[in-house]
Amino acid sequence: MAKLKVALYWAASCGGCEIAQLAIGDKLLKLAEAADIVFWPVAIDAKYKDVEAMPDKSIDACLFNGAIRNSEQEHMAKMLREKSKIMIAYGSCAYEGCIPGLANLFNRQMIFERVYIETQSTDNKNNILPQTSCQVPEGELTLPEFYDTVKTLRQTVDVDYVIPGCPPEEKTTWLALEALIEGKLPPKGTVISHNAKAVCDDCPLKRDVKKIKKIYRNFNIIPEPEICLLEQGLLCQGIATRGGCGAPCPQANMPCTGCYGPVEGVIDQGAHFLSALASVIDSNDPEEIQRIIDDIPDPVGSFYRYSLPDSLLRGAIIR
Ligand code: SF4
Ligand code: SF4
Repeated sequence: MAKLKVALYWAASCGGCEIAQLAIGDKLLKLAEAADIVFWPVAIDAKYKDVEAMPDKSIDACLFNGAIRNSEQEHMAKMLREKSKIMIAYGSCAYEGCIPGLANLFNRQMIFERVYIETQSTDNKNNILPQTSCQVPEGELTLPEFYDTVKTLRQTVDVDYVIPGCPPEEKTTWLALEALIEGKLPPKGTVISHNAKAVCDDCPLKRDVKKIKKIYRNFNIIPEPEICLLEQGLLCQGIATRGGCGAPCPQANMPCTGCYGPVEGVIDQGAHFLSALASVIDSNDPEEIQRIIDDIPDPVGSFYRYSLPDSLLRGAIIR
């Protein structure tokens, strides 16, 4: 049987997805038996022009991680879409925008001024900002255009599947790769994970009182073992987050921050968790409710840490 051709690419991301792909360990050998990796800039010396020269749809599957922050990433997303039969959004940045997407609280001008002018470690007396084109004695130097907002892969090209997670757990990666190798991929549009229900469904911690009087940050308390973290006042988002990861975070006393994205059928994970949180706040007194919610640190970063560009909000309105 002919081997599959697989491409991997990273756009606006931290590199954790590449580590997660390597984390499948000895299953890499099974992947290597079944597939040739034809493009993977982080690991093999293939150039953009090599991809350009490939016939359309000659790559069987592309695992694309990272959000779309600039014109180079958009160009590569479109080219890899043309060259690939199956486009997979791998990891939270490609799926929902993730941490790079929190920059949608600002626009390009604000980001450039902060990064290239205002930071204390910056020495930029002439306030020079990055340009897409610059003439030097040797000729023209160019940079990709830095967009005003971060987009997800699905907001850029047609996407066939999503592998969720920041980064995806090894078992989630392998679930998708094994299905690809065996020709048993689910229907187009599926978010591939072991559990389409909530993280709470995988979590062994006991839920009981479902009422909270105070919200704590992780370093404020040492949680009681074996008791649901949300019921102890920690912002655990398991109830609003797709399962399949096995709930490793709450089992290590760390609240779920929501990296597997929304549960099936929910379009705005942050709003879903806000609604769930409102239902467990134990008060009818507006002043007491205000005191309780005043303890929520960084509301956008707490509720939309992974999903701001893919949410109904998309970002801040900046005038
Ligand atoms: S809210 Fe968090 S700690 Fe509680 S059951 Fe769900 S995942 Fe577990
Ligand atoms: S428990 Fe939550 S934050 Fe942790 S891996 Fe699972 S989905 Fe991600």
